[in-house]
Amino acid sequence: MIDPLAEIKLDPRIAALPKVDLHVHQEWSPRLDRVLARHEGRSPYNWHDWAEQLITEIPPGMARLQKLAQVFPATQEANAKPENFIARIEDLLEEAAADGAILVEVRFGNEDVLKADLMALFREAERRVQVRYPRLRAEAVFILILSRFEGDRLNHLVKACIQAVDEGLGGIDFLYKPYDTEADWTTAYQIAEQAASAGLGITAHAGEFSSANIAAVLRVPGLTRIGHATHAISDPHVFDLLAKSSVTVECSLSCNVLLGAVPSYTKHPIRQFVESGIPVVLCTDNPVQVCTTIGREYTIAHALGFSTNELLDVTRHAIQVAFTSPQRRNELLNELNKWGDPESRVL
Ligand SMILES: [Zn+2]
Repeated sequence: MIDPLAEIKLDPRIAALPKVDLHVHQEWSPRLDRVLARHEGRSPYNWHDWAEQLITEIPPGMARLQKLAQVFPATQEANAKPENFIARIEDLLEEAAADGAILVEVRFGNEDVLKADLMALFREAERRVQVRYPRLRAEAVFILILSRFEGDRLNHLVKACIQAVDEGLGGIDFLYKPYDTEADWTTAYQIAEQAASAGLGITAHAGEFSSANIAAVLRVPGLTRIGHATHAISDPHVFDLLAKSSVTVECSLSCNVLLGAVPSYTKHPIRQFVESGIPVVLCTDNPVQVCTTIGREYTIAHALGFSTNELLDVTRHAIQVAFTSPQRRNELLNELNKWGDPESRVL
């Protein structure tokens, strides 16, 4: 059984595979701390110790989730500097590109979409990484936490998301509270309809700690992906709905094990998803806090029985369901076709 915090050496065949990460949060403070620590020649906050403590002291499930994004080793003040914003996105993209990622979708939250220069700074970070990794493409997704905003404030955020389509915002991720019991998705349905017709991709967080909300999420207009859905397996009706929906599940193996959404890697339903025709992609979710990378996630999937050809299919599917432009999608698929059959490669 693999320890969620084990250091895993990347198999050269897996390291060389083109990868995609469609679900990675910006983790602004942990990521910026890492960048600043490097500049200042000091050690960054020790997330390995934090994660170990999380596993030993906090019961699995919602209690662990609530500990995420609660430690702020870098300050808001430091984050407000445009150069620091670019540097931390550059760090995120570079880490993924070094592991073979050719596409990364970064999730922004709070009220980030109101930042007038969000997409310009994001593209600058992408451009800097492309100097060293020319194959890399990056897209931005905004997380709309519907329990946090209402009325005019919510309308303002939705309007900003729709306006940001022209600047390249790729999609919206809906996050509802309550998370592990049924929520009222009426507002999300209305917003999703506007967002989807404006060209935004739609995904949602659901089904991580119970099967609640999965059926409701599958009715969100324009939704093509769902984050986690690990508990779909606990309810045959919900599992059947998911299987019939053709919605893709964003699987974050290490995050799911570390937070206790599943008891272990081997108990993760990813294989059942695939066998039932439910498309899956591999993601890191919160890579700094849960101490993983996209290369590590592909390596773990390989250890769980996914062949290199299956992993290449996962990458291909991720490109097909990515919130990117038709032109970029074609470029990425061409990149993948050039790469050829990994089984026949001598590495
Ligand atoms: Zn997430």
